Amino acid sequence: MDPSPLNSCRVVDADLVLTVDAGDILADGSFSAEGEAPCDRCTEPVAVRFGKTFNILLTPRNRGPAGSGPIELREEDLDVGYYDGTGVEVGDIFWEQVALEIPVKVVCSEDCRGVCPACGANRNREACSCGAQDSPGPFDVLKNLKGKKE
Ligand SMILES: [Zn+2]
Ligand SMILES: [Zn+2]
Repeated sequence: MDPSPLNSCRVVDADLVLTVDAGDILADGSFSAEGEAPCDRCTEPVAVRFGKTFNILLTPRNRGPAGSGPIELREEDLDVGYYDGTGVEVGDIFWEQVALEIPVKVVCSEDCRGVCPACGANRNREACSCGAQDSPGPFDVLKNLKGKKE
């Protein structure tokens, strides 16, 4: 898995109810988190917010055949996980869910113009001279076509 693209991340709101039922642990929770990630195009820091609601059934990994029957899925969207039978860290449940939701790609704006590949200037803030060739005016196009023949 790719390392997290976030520079920072904190959970601002979290809710978790654990129900233990014959060795199974049902975790119902939700969280919302915020963080900061570099824009995929211009690398400027961008504030991101994300969150989700989850229902996970954790069942002991080492449960023997004498245990209760097959897991009954109570809800269609119930995720099933395993734990080693001695316990689970509440924080682990949370951070696993947070990690799953972290946005893979962040842009500061849909029309972010990014960084000039030639000189590294942030094209949202400055018009570098090489940038002019990237979005040519109608006459520049003709000029460039001629130039390419050389
Ligand atoms: Zn950007
Ligand atoms: Zn440039």
